[in-house]
Amino acid sequence: MKRIAMMLLTVCVVCTIGISAEEQKKQIKPDGYEVHDMTQPKPDIIRPGKTDDMPPSDAIVLFDGTNMDGWKHMNKKPNAPKWRIVNGAMQAVKKAGSIRTEKQFGSMQLHIEWRTPERVVGTGQGRGNSGIFLMSTYEVQVLDSWQKGTEEYDNPTYADGLAASLYGQKPPLVNACRGPHQWQTYDIIFHRPIFKGNTNEVERPATVTVIHNGVLVQDHWKIQGITWHKKLAEYRYHADKMPIQLQDHGNPTEYRNIWVRELKD
Ligand code: MG
Repeated sequence: MKRIAMMLLTVCVVCTIGISAEEQKKQIKPDGYEVHDMTQPKPDIIRPGKTDDMPPSDAIVLFDGTNMDGWKHMNKKPNAPKWRIVNGAMQAVKKAGSIRTEKQFGSMQLHIEWRTPERVVGTGQGRGNSGIFLMSTYEVQVLDSWQKGTEEYDNPTYADGLAASLYGQKPPLVNACRGPHQWQTYDIIFHRPIFKGNTNEVERPATVTVIHNGVLVQDHWKIQGITWHKKLAEYRYHADKMPIQLQDHGNPTEYRNIWVRELKD
């Protein structure tokens, strides 16, 4: 033991001798500041919600349970959303169409809670289907993917269409679904794609991390392109900021407690 300690001490002394105090001080981190540099700007001070389901002080609240101000249908006149507010949640109305935020977002942290209908009808993609389209383009699937047991799927569908999948692209790492009509959370960290000029080629693909009911299900995954059905995804050039869209897929799926924090690129 003594011998090992002596050897370690000798190595440390040799390491330190090789670099002068001045040189050590000058070691610059990739962010351009010295280690422990007191002049490095401090982060903004914010307040978290009093409980984990409450928005932090710097969040933009998109739905607080009282009204649907700030949401509209796409290409419809009048644009007032035809979705319903039921017990503090907004509920998709069959054939009303998808709704989207008036405000536009690029990279973001998004918190959203959802639940599938109480009355369990349909199978596979027909059971509690909706979806969160980031930038109105990249769908994080919402679906009743609850299975009665943990050994096999009693209500199977394709893996890249399960709840928390990037629809048509990437299944979730695990199926962390709660049962029908139970509130579930998604915490999504999304970085928008950066295009090469105005072309469909990306300099940096979009990435997404999804935490479903507290469980990591998408891990900084590189999105392959816009969400399509039965077709390989490809990128199509779009603006740096676009609305968040919630899908009407014919099922009365509900949403509540939606807030977003914009992220720098
Ligand atoms: Mg969907």
